[in-house]
Amino acid sequence: MSSLPVYIGVGSNLGDRKANIEKAIELVKLIKGVKMERASSVYETEPVGGPPQGKFLNGVLKIKTTINPFKLLGELREIEKHLGRKRRIKNGPRAIDLDILLFGKKKIDTKSLKVPHPRMHKREFVLRGLRELML
Ligand code: ADP
Ligand code: MG
Repeated sequence: MSSLPVYIGVGSNLGDRKANIEKAIELVKLIKGVKMERASSVYETEPVGGPPQGKFLNGVLKIKTTINPFKLLGELREIEKHLGRKRRIKNGPRAIDLDILLFGKKKIDTKSLKVPHPRMHKREFVLRGLRELML
């Protein structure tokens, strides 16, 4: 089966942010059909939009995977749930946020999944993380 390079954005601005990101990385590694390649540095960033809230720690992961994008989205949402993400206030604070940034060269535009992630180019940390991993 062919495996595609996929970039995942990871962020946290609630609780022990660093621990949340580290746990999320460990859980991503456990997804069947996913191989972890590299993780970017972690950046501290200001929240964009939403209610007043604390700063984020953000990073980008590069994986290789044989599973399809919708299945991967489902797995990432399970990890978010497992790490205590409950409320889904738009742009609200979250213990963990896992977003699919790029999935090979695929373009997906459905209600539940848009790839490339539509707001990724506006987020400085995404561009910095991607640049680090693409060097
Ligand atoms: P945010 O846009 O701030 O990351 P959420 O994490 O609450 O907000 O995501 C809201 C919804 O965005 C998810 O339920 C998911 O279906 C949808 N979504 C669309 N495209 C993507 C993507 N590329 N990666 C992750 N979620 C996505
Ligand atoms: Mg998200």
